[in-house]
Amino acid sequence: MAEEKKKKRIAIIGGGASGMTAAIFASAAKDVEITIFEAKDVPGKKINGTGNGKCNFTNDNMDLKFYRGQHPEFASFALSNFDNETAKDYFKSMGIRPKEKNGGYIYPNSEEAASVSSALRLSCAEKGVKFVFEKAKSITKEKNSFKIDSQSFDKVIIACGSFANMKDVTDFNGYGLVKSLGHKITPLYPALCQIRCKGSFFKTINGVRTEGSVKVFADGKEKASEKGELLFTDYGVSGIPAFQVSRFCAEAAGSSKKVVLSLNFMAGMSVDEVRTEVENRLKKLSRKGRTNEEAMLGLLNHKLNFVLLNLSGIDPTGSNKNVTDDKIAALVKNLTDLRVDVTGTNDFSFAQVVAGGTDTSEVDPETMGSKIVQGLYFAGETLDIDGTCGGYNLQWAWSSGAIAGLNAAFEKIPKEPKRFIEEIINR
Ligand SMILES: Cc1cc2nc3c(=O)[nH]c(=O)nc-3n(C[C@H](O)[C@H](O)[C@H](O)COP(=O)(O)OP(=O)(O)OC[C@H]3O[C@@H](n4cnc5c(N)ncnc54)[C@H](O)[C@@H]3O)c2cc1C
Repeated sequence: MAEEKKKKRIAIIGGGASGMTAAIFASAAKDVEITIFEAKDVPGKKINGTGNGKCNFTNDNMDLKFYRGQHPEFASFALSNFDNETAKDYFKSMGIRPKEKNGGYIYPNSEEAASVSSALRLSCAEKGVKFVFEKAKSITKEKNSFKIDSQSFDKVIIACGSFANMKDVTDFNGYGLVKSLGHKITPLYPALCQIRCKGSFFKTINGVRTEGSVKVFADGKEKASEKGELLFTDYGVSGIPAFQVSRFCAEAAGSSKKVVLSLNFMAGMSVDEVRTEVENRLKKLSRKGRTNEEAMLGLLNHKLNFVLLNLSGIDPTGSNKNVTDDKIAALVKNLTDLRVDVTGTNDFSFAQVVAGGTDTSEVDPETMGSKIVQGLYFAGETLDIDGTCGGYNLQWAWSSGAIAGLNAAFEKIPKEPKRFIEEIINR
């Protein structure tokens, strides 16, 4: 009787976006036995809260410039072999119809993030992936295998995500597991979160939304800029543009640099145009008996007008008689380039992602395999790659998960696996 070929036992730490994707692609190989260890009682819980409960799972505008990390180019191979179109096909194959909103953001047509996590869970089950709902406490490399707690595996994929958005970060042992296998973790910062600033006036504009742009300066050097709808909190700035630049604030503040934001509420207008606008209002309108505050009515939210007048030394309840050219110049500056000192960002429990993670210089970008430990792979946010808002983090989870899963399971895959990936999706 022919000896039965021993199945390759693959363990995946984390049943989230990247872990379930790794399992789905690994299961395309014959003779594999895939076990996902998931610390929570159901897989894909984080996915359910993404995109305000709608799951923005990729974006029509895909480019490496949307990715950060010590070596963002690390992401290039996975993202080009499993790109945004592949992500749409991948989800279509599971029944998720993609829908575009807000100029390129892709969501499931159901607009229910839970449909994405359920589709992944069902797909894993259909492919015979086994779930163990337990937190992996330790991973030990033996001669040709790994021990996870007391079970033995041939290959391990670490896809445990990060402690972003966790109430208690000490519950997360992922970075410890990575370090226990000899890999380095780069400095960790909260990303995609609110920015904390100095200034008592923030209390007055708490809750105000306004279109604008934000630039981050660290020790006087411009680090990042974004525009869109800003949202003020009583301690600083929120909204998508603030989220996008927050990792630069956290990183610079973390290395003791002086961090300053420049806010422009008149984006799209030149400084001269803003000066004319302000002069017209403060000089002409107040001639009709309006106060300075009344003269600014209708330009920006009234609370923001009030704060900017005060910051410019202009009494909101006074009239233009006391408004000197210097004060007008100050108001123009504050409307177009309000400088506020940054004290930091909100902590990891508020962040959507963690910037930093497993040092990508120790991982092969074409296989997601460890350069230190044979048979060990990584996928998703646990690596030092973070994307901006817009579906880029989940795209990274799908792309890196697919590459890690294939390489852990197959003896050999094509050097450029794009077609192979598409073929697996269409099976
Ligand atoms: C509120 C919020 C909204 C977001 N919205 C979007 C969005 O719209 N679009 C977008 O692209 N990105 C979004 N993100 C980011 C995105 O969710 C993550 O980047 C993505 O889920 C990372 O995938 P992952 O597989 O690496 O990690 P996860 O999806 O977090 O999965 C990791 C899994 O590993 C498990 N785990 C951890 N340690 C262990 C262990 N020791 N043993 C067993 N299991 C373990 C965890 O329980 C978890 O289920 C959002 C994040 C948050 C918090």
